[in-house]
Amino acid sequence: RPRSFRLRIAPIQKKILIEQEASDRVPVVGIFLDVTELKRAERMRIDFVANVSHELRTPLTSIRGFSEALLEDLKAGRMDSLERSSAKILTNADRLGVLVQDLLDLSQLESGRERELNRERLDLAVLTRRVVNSLEGVRVQRNFKVELEVEDGAKLYADLARVEQVLENLLGNAYRYATSGTIVSVRWGLEDDQCILQVKDQGPGISPEHLSRLFERFYRVDPDRSRNSGGTGLGLAIVKHIVQAHGGHVSVESSLGSGTTFTCCFPGGSQQEF
Ligand code: ADP
Repeated sequence: RPRSFRLRIAPIQKKILIEQEASDRVPVVGIFLDVTELKRAERMRIDFVANVSHELRTPLTSIRGFSEALLEDLKAGRMDSLERSSAKILTNADRLGVLVQDLLDLSQLESGRERELNRERLDLAVLTRRVVNSLEGVRVQRNFKVELEVEDGAKLYADLARVEQVLENLLGNAYRYATSGTIVSVRWGLEDDQCILQVKDQGPGISPEHLSRLFERFYRVDPDRSRNSGGTGLGLAIVKHIVQAHGGHVSVESSLGSGTTFTCCFPGGSQQEF
């Protein structure tokens, strides 16, 4: 891979020179500083700001457009279209709210890491059922089944609100992509002393070239579909940061036509101090 260096050159002072005193050439010393990582971070920051601006502009443009339409309808006395414009303004304002909240979460996770976690012993069945219940309306509307399993001995000493957020984001995606008549399964297991969460759907799947970039901020396989269904493109980046803040890691397995499985491994599944 190409690397970037910053080079600083300085002449060597005469008094240090012993052998080369007779020469009229000035010897110099050069210091090469590897700034590859610095440049990469700078590029990522610039891209991130560009992405955030773009994401904010989309709902803002809609709010502006529908507000203008609302005003014109009011002036012209067209009362029947007021409801539609108001509903659109509300939807886009909500979208902005979700985006800002996701951005705040991400920045807090990136700066605070483990120090910010309020760890406690979690009741995995109760916690998962709560998230599943909160999404029940979507499940009924889209007509698929959800299965929940907590293996005996699976324990987690973690931040309740953060783990809930992991479940909300993973289940939110699974519910968004699950096809009618299929099953979404959520499983907490214990493997090599790790507490493993698996969220599996039988939706359309993701083709392999996208998989390595899926946890990047704002990376989307189908940007229009994601935006239209209220996605911010930050959900999986937040999941990754939360799991990493707990000392764990995330992965995804998927292929077109056979659904997607997200796996989160949290360390110390059976030996945590309670
Ligand atoms: P979004 O808010 O767009 O859902 P995420 O970070 O949660 O953002 O997900 C990133 C992208 O990964 C989504 O836009 C979607 O293209 C893809 N994706 C995530 N989960 C699934 C899934 N269960 N099935 C198919 N594609 C998915």
